[in-house]
Amino acid sequence: MATNYEDRARSGGGGGYDNDDDQDRRPMGGGRAGGRRMHRRRVCRFCIDKVDLIDFKDVRLLQNYLPERGKILPRRISGNCATHQRMLAEAIKRARNIALLPYTTD
Ligand SMILES: [Zn+2]
Repeated sequence: MATNYEDRARSGGGGGYDNDDDQDRRPMGGGRAGGRRMHRRRVCRFCIDKVDLIDFKDVRLLQNYLPERGKILPRRISGNCATHQRMLAEAIKRARNIALLPYTTD
């Protein structure tokens, strides 16, 4: 029998072994890097290029922001700033309107 004075000192008479493994939590360097999201460039491409107006006839450009489903890529993914994302959405809508781009592919 060990003299576990430590145990006695800590528990105030509850009579329990409560879970002690709180201090066991550590970051754990290896193994799964599951939660890592693939993030694209954090910056707005249009800002870099100093684009003032996104040309809605530039289908190839717009298509970068239209995944297969035809929905406009959200800003979180595209990394565009608000201004340009808006402009882009506008341009895409115009392009759709004149049938340069699909509304949906289905
Ligand atoms: Zn921008």
